[in-house]
Amino acid sequence: MTTNEDAFARAQSVLPGGVSSPVRAYGSVGGTPRFVTSARGATITDGAGRTYVDLVASWGPALLGHAHPAVVAAVQEAAARGLSFGAPTLAEAELAEQVIARVPAVEKLRLVSTGTEATMTAVRLARGVTGRPLLIKFAGCYHGHLDALLAQAGSGVATLALPGSAGVTEASAGETLVLPYNDLAAVEAAFAEHGPRIAAVITEAAPANMGVVEPDAGFNAGLRRITAAHGALLILDEVLTGFRVSRAGWWGLEGQPEGWAPDLFTFGKVIGGGMPVAGVGGPAAVMDHLAPLGPVYQAGTLSGNPVAVAAGLATLRAADDAVYAHVDRAAGIVSEAVSAALTAEGVAHTVQRAGSLFSFAFGDGLVRAGGPRSYADVLAQESWRYPPFFHAMLDAGVALPPSVFEAWFLTAAHDDAALDQIVGALPAATRAAAA
Ligand code: PLP
Repeated sequence: MTTNEDAFARAQSVLPGGVSSPVRAYGSVGGTPRFVTSARGATITDGAGRTYVDLVASWGPALLGHAHPAVVAAVQEAAARGLSFGAPTLAEAELAEQVIARVPAVEKLRLVSTGTEATMTAVRLARGVTGRPLLIKFAGCYHGHLDALLAQAGSGVATLALPGSAGVTEASAGETLVLPYNDLAAVEAAFAEHGPRIAAVITEAAPANMGVVEPDAGFNAGLRRITAAHGALLILDEVLTGFRVSRAGWWGLEGQPEGWAPDLFTFGKVIGGGMPVAGVGGPAAVMDHLAPLGPVYQAGTLSGNPVAVAAGLATLRAADDAVYAHVDRAAGIVSEAVSAALTAEGVAHTVQRAGSLFSFAFGDGLVRAGGPRSYADVLAQESWRYPPFFHAMLDAGVALPPSVFEAWFLTAAHDDAALDQIVGALPAATRAAAA
């Protein structure tokens, strides 16, 4: 047994902040991160032997729950055949076929290892295809830690209250126009001024890195219309929403029924089922600009890694309609229970939902405004209510995302017992939030 305090002290002496990714350090909620030794189903267990119902799900990938038997077996079988070949495998084509079957707007897929690599590749591809330099992104949208897209990013950048990142040159930042989310007039104005120089608009399909902020009806379709009119590409970042909010991600809920598609999709998280797989996909006419067919270079020693691909394939194969129905229902139960408990304590809040993703924002002003629609709205909330709420839940054995700017993730493994534990922890936690 190792206490979390001992583990954190040891890790801090050799890892910056004691972690390999900033939000894990509990910076915005305070206290000591739980050093996890195992995870199964809906729970994680720390080195001190304590088990928690987990609402982080590895920040999304664990759609089926942790260590799903079919995924673990697929990984073990693949590992026994060899860890990495640096040569093509048919499993990569099978994974692409699975993605294309779910998201028919994708004709070809390039596999990479992280969501950051996927968006980086999509950006390079958009610039390569159009021959234009500029990008539009939206404040509060997080697309990974590539220089071009770190400006006013959500996620850890919001959690740590950073304006962006040191180390990003003015030249790089200067090629990214950051616009307010859900504001099509701002997009029209940017195109009116810079249209011939804009390579792409990149947007989270449904933002979940500034807390969840649902796109207004017609916003994504409007981006499609404007980009098409100006010869720019639309990159729909589904790293977080892809294969999570529906079989075909957010696009399956919105774009497919409405009859529009982006030029490029980026995928991550669920596509690897907890292993490092991500991808960029789209029509062959765009994707074939990538090397070795086209002039846009992209490569990776571990891209399409056979063990990781096996995990992704097993995850997508197991993610049937029942899984999505379960996760939707569980998200409804938890979000409604939290909201009811906050209301009972008189804590003004809004519930942000986008499919099965949800988060909460605190404060009267936001309630009066009908909930946050942009990053500026989100930042104006009473975020100080979250840390005491978070810690009261943790004390009761429920691990929430350690930041008010992150979505809560349910999985197929959140059964009635797990949901009951979450609901049972709420009265004390909402009292803490009210204080
Ligand atoms: N895009 C979105 C929408 C994300 O949520 C994330 C990560 O949270 C990324 C890109 C970056 O993915 P990764 O952390 O795998 O690099």
